[in-house]
Amino acid sequence: ALSESLESAWKSLRGQAKISESNIQEALRDVRRSLLEADANLQVVKDFIEEVRETALGAEVIKGVSPDQQFIKIVNDELIKVMGETNAPLAEANKAPTVILMAGLQGTGKTTATAKLALHLRKQERSALLVATDVYRPAAIDQLVTLGKQINVPVFEIGADANPVEIARQGLAAAREQNVDTVIIDTAGRLQIDPEMMGELATIKKTVKPDEVLLVVDAMTGQEAANLTRTFHEEIGITGAILTKMDGDTRGGAALSIRQISGQPIKFIGVGEKVEALQPFYPERMASRILGMGDVLSLVEKAQEEFDIADAEKMTQKIMEAQFDFSDFLKQMRLLKNMGSLGGVMKMIPGMNKLSSSQLEEGEGKLKQTEAMIGSMTQAERKDPDLLSSSPSRRRRIAKGSGYSLNDVSKLVTDFQRMRTMMQQMGQGQMPGMGGMGGG
Ligand code: GDP
Ligand code: MG
Repeated sequence: ALSESLESAWKSLRGQAKISESNIQEALRDVRRSLLEADANLQVVKDFIEEVRETALGAEVIKGVSPDQQFIKIVNDELIKVMGETNAPLAEANKAPTVILMAGLQGTGKTTATAKLALHLRKQERSALLVATDVYRPAAIDQLVTLGKQINVPVFEIGADANPVEIARQGLAAAREQNVDTVIIDTAGRLQIDPEMMGELATIKKTVKPDEVLLVVDAMTGQEAANLTRTFHEEIGITGAILTKMDGDTRGGAALSIRQISGQPIKFIGVGEKVEALQPFYPERMASRILGMGDVLSLVEKAQEEFDIADAEKMTQKIMEAQFDFSDFLKQMRLLKNMGSLGGVMKMIPGMNKLSSSQLEEGEGKLKQTEAMIGSMTQAERKDPDLLSSSPSRRRRIAKGSGYSLNDVSKLVTDFQRMRTMMQQMGQGQMPGMGGMGGG
C-alpha cells in the first residue's frame, strides 16, 4: 500500500458519482442565468447548454467537488472551445499590402478601432495607411485624420463628396504605391442594418478584396449581437471581429454569439476610448468573465490536480509489480508534459522524488524523441526491454524508423533499464528512506 493520503484519495475516487440529470439541476439553472446576465443571446445560450449537458452526462465527478461544480467547469471549458481556444492573430497577406475592411453599425467604435489597429501594427514595425470612406457623417473624416495624426499614421481621404467605393479603390492604390504594409479601410455605419449600407459595403469588399473583414461589435449590444453577426456574415462575410467597450460593466456575452453564429474568431477587444486601449482576445479570460463563477472554477482546478494522483497511483502499482514497460514510460512522460511538471505528484510517492528530477523531468524535445523511438518499437519490445539490450539489429531498426541515432536508442534502453531496476528495488523496499511504502 502507499502512503495514507494516496490511499484515501484513491478510495474516494473509486466511489465517485457520475454527472446525471438530477445532480446538475441547480448548476444548469445557475449557468443559464449567468450566461443570460452576461447578455448572451437567449437562443445561443439554449443551444450551447443543451450541447454541453449532453456531453457532460455520464462524466465522472472528481474528488472534492460536487457534480454541480464539475458541470460548471465543463461548461467553462466548452465556452473556451466555442470561442476559439486561443487568440487568433490578424491576417497577413503573402504580398503586401494586407487589406483590412472594417464593418459594423454606427457608434460601435469602427473609426476608433481603425486607429487602434494601426497603432498595434506600428508597434510590430508594420506600417499602415488608413482610408476614410465614411462620407455620410459630418466630421467622420476629420475624426480619422485627427486620430491618424495622434498616432503618426497617414490617412487617405479625398473629401466627403467622393464615392466611398472610389475612395477605397484609390486608397488601396495609394497603399501599393507607397509600399505600405497594411491598409485599413474605415467605413460608414448606420443606426440599423439597412440594405443600402450593406450593398455599399459589399461593393467595397468586391473592389478591394480584403484579407480581413472585421466586424466591430459594441459589447453593450448584448442580445442583439447575435442578429447583427448573422446579417453581416450572411451578406458580407466576415473573417473576424473586434468586441469594443469591454471596459464597460458588461460581462461580454456577445462574444459567445459572435463565434457561435459566424464561426469566426474575435481577434481583439476594445477597452477604452484611447488609441492604446486595444487587447488581443483571449477565450479563457472571456469565459471566466462571462460565467462569472471564478470561485467554483478554481476549486475544481484544485481538485483536478488531485485527480492526477490517481494516475500516479496506478502507475506505482505497476512499478511494484515490476510490470512497468516502455508504454508506461511513455504515458508517464506525457502525463508529465500535461501537468507541466510531474514533480508535484511524484513527490507524494515516497522514494520517488529522486527519480522525478533526474530521469523524468525532461524537456519537450526529449519527449518527442522518446515518443518517436518508442513508436518504432514492436509491442513485444515495448514490454520487454531485454529484447533490445541484447540485439543491436533491433536497436538499429528502431533508430532508422524513428530518425534518431543508434546511440540515442541505446541510451534510451540503458536509461530505461536502470530506472526499472531502481523502481523494482523500491517496490521491494530495498532502498533507504522507504518507510512509507511498506506500511498499511
Ligand atoms: P464608429 O461610428 O463605429 O466609427 O464609432 P467611433 O469610433 O466613432 O466610436 C464611437 C464612440 O465610442 C466614441 O465616443 C469612442 O470614443 C467610443 N469608443 C470606441 N471604442 C471604445 C471602447 O473600447 N471603450 C469605450 N469606453 N469607448 C469606446
Ligand atoms: Mg466612424
